[in-house]
Amino acid sequence: MICQKCNTNQGVPYTFYYGRMVDKKSETISQTANDEVFRITEYFTLGGQESVVLCSKCLRGGCVFWLLVVGLFFIGLLLSFGLSSVLYFLLISILAPVVISIAEYNSDSKTKGVQKAIEFRKTALMQQGFDTFWTPQQYANLRKNIN
Ligand SMILES: [Zn+2]
Repeated sequence: MICQKCNTNQGVPYTFYYGRMVDKKSETISQTANDEVFRITEYFTLGGQESVVLCSKCLRGGCVFWLLVVGLFFIGLLLSFGLSSVLYFLLISILAPVVISIAEYNSDSKTKGVQKAIEFRKTALMQQGFDTFWTPQQYANLRKNIN
């Protein structure tokens, strides 16, 4: 299957669900003199499901990856000039979140894929009046609450 984003690489389909919130009700469960507990119930209608084919290259996004490359390049450059500990500390604190986000991405590319698929179709679906998007996981949880 060809990636729908770049139309060049082979990709994998990622499925998500979309719908619309039709009502929101807030009711008081318990009430004391200075405390009140609410239950908020949201009502949705399911619009349908869609699959978007995305390749690993489009999933990676590129931006974070190149930030890391550039960052490492600067570390190397500064090391060759002899680096003060303050600068070194700054660089590490800038790079650490980047490294962590890459690690996170690798750990759940499945979820990431679904999120990217939603991002890819969101604008078009919102123009059709849908305002809520669920991953298959979230949708499964939602179905448990249908009575
Ligand atoms: Zn692609």
